Amino acid sequence: MPATTLADMETSNGTVRPAVIADLDAMIAVRQRSIGALSEAYSNDVLRGWQQHDESTYLAGMVDDELALVAEQDARLVGMVALDLDKQELVLLFTDPAYQGRGVGTALLRKLEHLACEYGLATLNLEATQNAVSYYRRTGYRERPVERSRRCQSLGVPSTPMHRSLETMQNPYQQRICRLLSDLDLPADYGARHRLKVHPEAFALTSIGSDVFEREQKLLPAAADAWLTMQQTARDDGIDLLVISAYRSVDYQVDLIRRKCDRGQCVEDILKVSAAPGFSEHHSGRAIDITGSDTEPLEEIFEDTAAFAWLMQHAGRFGFRLSYPRDNRHGIAYEPWHWYYTAN
Ligand SMILES: [Zn+2]
Repeated sequence: MPATTLADMETSNGTVRPAVIADLDAMIAVRQRSIGALSEAYSNDVLRGWQQHDESTYLAGMVDDELALVAEQDARLVGMVALDLDKQELVLLFTDPAYQGRGVGTALLRKLEHLACEYGLATLNLEATQNAVSYYRRTGYRERPVERSRRCQSLGVPSTPMHRSLETMQNPYQQRICRLLSDLDLPADYGARHRLKVHPEAFALTSIGSDVFEREQKLLPAAADAWLTMQQTARDDGIDLLVISAYRSVDYQVDLIRRKCDRGQCVEDILKVSAAPGFSEHHSGRAIDITGSDTEPLEEIFEDTAAFAWLMQHAGRFGFRLSYPRDNRHGIAYEPWHWYYTAN
């Protein structure tokens, strides 16, 4: 379904937005009311067991990871849905019974499909409870020939595994990234596995001068301004900040991975140090690898330098944050040198 239809739905059916922690109680309440309204489809025992199953911790994790959406109408929270990246599943789609039949659920569903596309997913799975199978069929999902999910069985509610291809919803760039993953034999669920979104390639770039290898480097204009100001401020404090690498295209990342494959490295080892094409922050023109004047580039030991200490203290003021601290949620190795410009 084209994005314009989604926008129309949102206009006529309230708004769909990312959930925040403050929404949790209202989300749980919508879930309980929605399950409670299914008395024609299930026995009271089943409904009670379903309602008593505590999803709050699971849901809070989703909200925290920005993987949950809510719908609002009449200044009320009337629907919710979430994306389980580990299972590549749409989960917890509920609409307040008083607002059913108005397209709220479908607006949530479509928006979640777009979110799944942002993580590079080409297929979205779900477990349809019996009352919802015909609805999901109408919205493009088909029965999936696999064993039944443990999660819904644990609720005591019979369910049908379903799925749909997201190919028609992906933009051409997302389609290109999926093809590249396949061509390079990289895992199709790379983005989902690492909680990484596809980064569009920047198109308006400006020079920030040469890196330590005498190659010209570029960033988005706002990021370039911020970087040059930060570099000068550090210099005034007696700290040299040097560039190792800034903008990198998808083609560059593809070449890098191909060269490593040709040298006999296995995909798993390559992906420990290089992002899959499409998922590197360097495509965005906002990421910069930094070193100091007294250390080897791209070594963890950078964290012991005065340059790193200066960055930890001051970079936030210039709009830069450390993307991959120790034990980051992406499962990416600690990179004290890699900084990302977050401001608009
Ligand atoms: Zn980097």
